[in-house]
Amino acid sequence: MLIQKNVSLKDKNWFKTGGEARFYAEPTNLDEVVTAVTFAQSERLVTFILGEGANILISDEGFDGLVLRPKNDKIKIDREQGLITAGAGVAVPVLIEMALEHNLLGLEEFSGIPGTVGGSVFINIHYCEFLLSHFLVSATVVNLKTGKVKEVGNDWFGFGYNQSTLQNEQWYLFDATFQLKKATDVEVAYARGRRHEIIRHRNRRYPLERTCGSFFRNFLPEELPFTIAGKKVPFVAYYLEKVGVKGELAIGGAMVYHLHANMLVTKEGATSADVIAVARTMQERVRDQFGIIPEAECQLIGFSQYPLLR
Ligand SMILES: Cc1cc2nc3c(=O)[nH]c(=O)nc-3n(C[C@H](O)[C@H](O)[C@H](O)COP(=O)(O)OP(=O)(O)OC[C@H]3O[C@@H](n4cnc5c(N)ncnc54)[C@H](O)[C@@H]3O)c2cc1C
Repeated sequence: MLIQKNVSLKDKNWFKTGGEARFYAEPTNLDEVVTAVTFAQSERLVTFILGEGANILISDEGFDGLVLRPKNDKIKIDREQGLITAGAGVAVPVLIEMALEHNLLGLEEFSGIPGTVGGSVFINIHYCEFLLSHFLVSATVVNLKTGKVKEVGNDWFGFGYNQSTLQNEQWYLFDATFQLKKATDVEVAYARGRRHEIIRHRNRRYPLERTCGSFFRNFLPEELPFTIAGKKVPFVAYYLEKVGVKGELAIGGAMVYHLHANMLVTKEGATSADVIAVARTMQERVRDQFGIIPEAECQLIGFSQYPLLR
């Protein structure tokens, strides 16, 4: 049955916290997406699209609507044109591996970043100077209000740092096509080396489970009313380091990771309320010392009121 009722979301997100979805579906093809969207419309339900849950925090009360979890995980490769098309449910590490196997380069810059193609286009994943939007050329999206299917190009997404049109929550990304560089075997060997180096570097600094990665996004230069040693410092981790939360601040089952001031982790028995309590305290400390408020990069799902400072 496509639509299920009262499905736990705790085991479907990286923090391993949160309540149930009132309705839940895992569409594997366009017809099923449209059927689920039509159901949501007829029942007047709000919808939420869940990827791997690597960048979300779900309220302990759960989600009072329909959660759609894309399960179309096909990958199509046009080696001649250097194009790779992936369903929204494809895991990014799988996509990178598949591209390398076909001598296509570019996406390995995102090595070690968890999540699906859908979630990654939503936030426009980034690592160092690389953005996923540098590679995306086209996509298939479905309107969550009408069920209408549309082919769109890169411009449609209005991409920026942590930004895409998908964030207006009107669209379901069904698949995306990326333009990659055709490479020789030697170039691929170098790319694999770089991939291993990135993963090794990340594994030394980042938690490997029960986290959403960076909890707060970096500041934009215009949000900083002051300079430090003559420069604007956009890195939110810089301010969080200064307020001494790293490895120190813990509330209930949630804490700030001991190796990274902008990463929260949970332990068995933690609740989403614990995560919120830690995140809010981090915001308050930065506000009190610097007069600026960090904004969540982590998507907060199912909260009746926005639970953090803005
Ligand atoms: C250890 C760790 C390290 C990380 N490092 C990085 C990093 O270096 N760089 C970086 O950018 N991110 C990083 N992240 C964050 C995370 O990996 C990305 O945001 C990832 O893209 C989330 O994908 P997901 O499938 O888990 O999406 P989810 O967390 O499930 O969802 C995130 C958002 O995407 C939306 N969404 C999901 N699928 C679709 C779809 N098909 N259509 C429309 N909207 C959709 C959801 O509704 C939600 O709002 C890290 C996370 C972790 C846990």
